[in-house]
Amino acid sequence: MRFLKHLLLLVSPVVLLCSCALPDAAQLGIKPAAEESGAKAPPKKKPEKLNALHNPDVDHLPFVQATRDRLEYIEAKVTGPYCALTFDDGPHPTLTPKLLDILAERNVRCTFYVIGPLARRYPEIMKRMVAEGHEIANHTMTHRDIRRISVDRMKKELRDCHQLLIDITGQTPLTFRPPGGGYNDRLMKIIYDELGYSTFLWTVDTNDWRRPGVGVVTKRLINGASPGAILLCHDIHPPTIEAIPAAVDGILEKGYTLVTVSQLVGLEKQGNVKSAPNTHAVRELAYFGPGAL
Ligand SMILES: [Zn+2]
Repeated sequence: MRFLKHLLLLVSPVVLLCSCALPDAAQLGIKPAAEESGAKAPPKKKPEKLNALHNPDVDHLPFVQATRDRLEYIEAKVTGPYCALTFDDGPHPTLTPKLLDILAERNVRCTFYVIGPLARRYPEIMKRMVAEGHEIANHTMTHRDIRRISVDRMKKELRDCHQLLIDITGQTPLTFRPPGGGYNDRLMKIIYDELGYSTFLWTVDTNDWRRPGVGVVTKRLINGASPGAILLCHDIHPPTIEAIPAAVDGILEKGYTLVTVSQLVGLEKQGNVKSAPNTHAVRELAYFGPGAL
C-alpha cells in the first residue's frame, strides 16, 4: 500500500504536466504572454484623417471624346452635381506626386494638361497618373500662344505632344487646352480636324499662379463647384498643392462628385443628368475598432 501511495504521488504530477501540455496553446489560439501584452506586436495603425472624404467611385464613367458640334468647352452642360478639377503645366517632379497622393487618399480623378517635354522627363509620374484613373491631355510641347505661331507649327506641337503621351502612357489624349488660354474659332476648327480635339477652357480660374494664398485658392475652388464646372489650377505651385486637401473636401461636402473632363463630356451626352441630394460624399470612418459604428 505504502508503495502504491508513493507511486501515485510520483505519477500524478506527470499526468498533470501532460494534460497541461496538450492540446497545443497555438491550436487554441492562445497568444504567448509577450505577444498578448503587445510587447512585440506591431503597433495598431492610428487613424490619420478622421475627416477625410471620399469621392464616389467614377471609374465606370467612360472618357468620351467630344464631337465636332461642340468645339469649345467652358463648362459642360450637365445638371447633376459633377465637376472637373484640372491641373496645367506639369508634371512637376515633386509637387505632382504629392498631389497624386492627396487625390488617391480621396479617390478623386482629375485631368492633367501636361507639357510634352516635362512628360518625357518624368514618364513614371505620367504612368502613375494613368494607373490611378486620371485623364491626361494635350497642352503642347513648348507652351507657346497658338495664335502667335504658324498653323503648321501649332499642328506639329499638338501632334508631337499627342504621340508622346500615347508612347509614354498608352492613353490617347482626347482634349486640348491652349497655353495661356489663347485661341480663336479658326484654330479650334483646325485643331479638331487635325486630332479630333475639342478645346477645353475653364469655368473657374483660381489664378493660383499669382500666388494669392492657400486659403484664397481653396475658397475659389469650393465656391467654383457647380454642375458641369471645369476648375483650373496648376500643379507647379506649392500653395496650390497645399490648398487641394481642404478644397477637395469642401467640394465633396457640397455634394459634388469630381470627374475628368472627358467623363463630363460623357455625362453631358447622356443628357439631363439627375440632380442628386447631398449624399455623394461618403465620410470615411478611419477607425473601425470596438464600439465604432
Ligand atoms: Zn499652361
